[in-house]
Amino acid sequence: MVSFEHFPKIDAHFHSTSYNPIYGKIALDYNVRYLNINTDANVFPSLEEQETVALTYIEKHKRYFSYITSFEMDGWESDGWYQKLFDRIKKSIQNGAVGVKIWKNIGMEIIKPSDQSYLMIDDLFFEPLFNYLSENKIPVLAHLGEPKNCWQPLDEMTSNRNRMYYANHPEFHAYLHPEIPGYDRQIKARDKVLASYPNLIFVGAHLGSLEWSIKELANRFDTYPNFKVDLSSRLGHLQMQSAKNYDGVRDFLIQYSDRILYGTDAYNNPEKLISSLHNEWKYLATNDDCESTEVSGTFKGINLPEEALIKIYYENAVNTYHGLTF
Ligand SMILES: [Zn+2]
Repeated sequence: MVSFEHFPKIDAHFHSTSYNPIYGKIALDYNVRYLNINTDANVFPSLEEQETVALTYIEKHKRYFSYITSFEMDGWESDGWYQKLFDRIKKSIQNGAVGVKIWKNIGMEIIKPSDQSYLMIDDLFFEPLFNYLSENKIPVLAHLGEPKNCWQPLDEMTSNRNRMYYANHPEFHAYLHPEIPGYDRQIKARDKVLASYPNLIFVGAHLGSLEWSIKELANRFDTYPNFKVDLSSRLGHLQMQSAKNYDGVRDFLIQYSDRILYGTDAYNNPEKLISSLHNEWKYLATNDDCESTEVSGTFKGINLPEEALIKIYYENAVNTYHGLTF
């Protein structure tokens, strides 16, 4: 098998919101290409700025960069919002975007003025959007809900990484905000979209928020043929499971290797990108002893066969985001 550095990789969940030429060098050093994900999150710059940066990367390094556009929910309840949305998506696709990102503000932040309930992704309001994306075969990358731990108190979380994150971001820690719809409601709403729009090309970011159970994930893959997930920011949850159930996780990754996309979620952080590329390869492609914040002591790499690795690292992204030009 080709070495780590030469193995072709697509980081299908990458963020860079200011141009940095270092990513061009990393692309060459590690044979990696990037899907820059624009996101309607308040911790990110405006979507307009994110899109300008994404296009700058494509202009300068067309062979290594592509992007996924997104949209703001501001004014969603007013007339004309949908027309603006469709104009925006059309323009982005013409510019080279290969999909549309949906974020967890839907389901966890946005309130319906009519009855003060949370606007969920299975609300009929989104019917025109999903019909449009299905008909035009535009893939959606959906970060919906959060890790299950988000609804637990800090000391009951199963993941050190999740615990650190919610300790630093109490505003996103659903346990502290009981008004936010629960974990099961988030998953149910997403599943309903998968069932209602079987032709929608759908990637659940972050293991589709089912990071805690390969059984739950397998069940969704079997039920919804249009469902894929990316590994970004949640590989630790698979490591936790494989430390206890090595063969189970390995068999799962092989069986569903055409449904899983590699992604680092590195955000304006080239050092983190490089260390993720190294550490995650070690876990996925070797049987070396690995270490992670999520598991105490060492645990074995999962040592996937080359056919599974090439799908996860490269082919699935190409087959899902069919507009990719690199
Ligand atoms: Zn992300």
